[in-house]
Amino acid sequence: MADLFTTIITSPLARKAGVPQPTKLRRYTPGDPLVEGPVLVAGGGHFDTSLANRLEQAGAQVGTALEELDGRLGALVLDLSAAADPSDLVALHAIGAPAVKRLAKNARVVVLGTDPATLTDVSHIAAQRALEGFTRSLGKELRFGATANLVLATAADPALAESGVWSAVEFFLSGRSAYVDGQVVRVGDAASPSAADPLRPLAGKVAVVTGAARGIGAEIAAVLARDGATVIAVDVPQAGESLAKVANDVRGTALQLDVTTEDAGRRILEHATSRHGSLDIVVHNAGILRDKLFVNMSDDKWAAVLNVNLRSIIRMNETFLGGGGLGEGGRIVCLSSIAGIAGNRGQTNYAASKAGVIGIVEALEGQVRDRGITVNAVAPGFIETEMTKSVPFATREVGRRSNSLQQGGLPKDVAETIAWLAQPGAAAVNGQVLRVCGQSLLGA
Ligand code: NAD
Repeated sequence: MADLFTTIITSPLARKAGVPQPTKLRRYTPGDPLVEGPVLVAGGGHFDTSLANRLEQAGAQVGTALEELDGRLGALVLDLSAAADPSDLVALHAIGAPAVKRLAKNARVVVLGTDPATLTDVSHIAAQRALEGFTRSLGKELRFGATANLVLATAADPALAESGVWSAVEFFLSGRSAYVDGQVVRVGDAASPSAADPLRPLAGKVAVVTGAARGIGAEIAAVLARDGATVIAVDVPQAGESLAKVANDVRGTALQLDVTTEDAGRRILEHATSRHGSLDIVVHNAGILRDKLFVNMSDDKWAAVLNVNLRSIIRMNETFLGGGGLGEGGRIVCLSSIAGIAGNRGQTNYAASKAGVIGIVEALEGQVRDRGITVNAVAPGFIETEMTKSVPFATREVGRRSNSLQQGGLPKDVAETIAWLAQPGAAAVNGQVLRVCGQSLLGA
């Protein structure tokens, strides 16, 4: 629901007066075409030929030169993964600039590179690192709901990276990534199988979502269920009524539980295995705010936030990653926040907890890789929820507008990103922190 301010600035009068209008973003609905409009795939990198084939198979009209395509472009895929020297970046501008001029509303730019951390030659590293600055800046220049994101391959052998790269490119081209802008995702070499049924990529999976009674958690439950997963919705007993409704709506089961209790992990695992036969996907979404300036913050407020948002996740993961927990193909996705990256006044406890979550992801990535499990985090920016509705007017408007897409995100945007990370096809995405923030200026 739009608030009064949004209603006023989007009114016909405000439009006439030239007040900048946020574009209605292209969001995913099952069965939608992957992109709206033709796709230019160019750059001469390791992946452009295979990506062009995959895009054609997905039903897109693909060209390898701008002149081959009519009308506005739905997307531009620029594969610079083979650029070995800054002089190779001339192609980026020569191909990119005329194509960007022809982008349609809500178009996508996806740049492909090679992870500089895997390289040794200075010029090679410089050229690849340059892609990040380019993509983040282009994201800030694009208008009308268009986004720009960067996919970096970390595998030495491009053939091994190809399926993972495709999964990331597919996500960024689709409406699932509507509010993901100016981001970088690293993709490894784990085989990334395409879903048997693209409309239900999570079919047969059992997922638990903590904090599912409302807000972002309820939407994560809905999107995972839409994509085929059986969902266990977890929340505190006080939220029992709305939790039961969420669980019913997604045809899953409800589990009333405080995630800070010692045996929370064991109880979730027991519920999952006894009621549904396994546990495959864990979404650590439960979180609380207890904002106060650091010097005025009580011990209770400090401890409560760290307990719910951070310590409970570490404890539950020990169970989920222990014997009888997640197996091959297992997925853990944690909710961080841009406050955990940029810091935020009045949120020392919250930002500490959300930065700690990034620490969890970085620490576990290497430990789980050989077991075919991934651990990632999603860091939302300003998302329209009950929580952000309660933020004072001026702060709320600044939060909502100070991003490249000039609007707040929806819970669905966070949920779609999590649902992608949970897919078998995202097996090569591990240890990543993906911001869903419309390229917020905070921590950019
Ligand atoms: P919300 O307050 O609307 O929902 C959080 C849910 O977690 C509630 O249903 C609550 O009952 C549950 N919960 C709290 N403590 C719990 C506990 N101990 N055990 C079990 N459940 C518990 O919040 P939201 O806006 O939907 O946020 C969801 C997640 O996203 C949180 O981790 C939050 O920090 C993160 N996040 C939100 C935003 C935003 O803009 N809304 C931005 C960045 C990050």
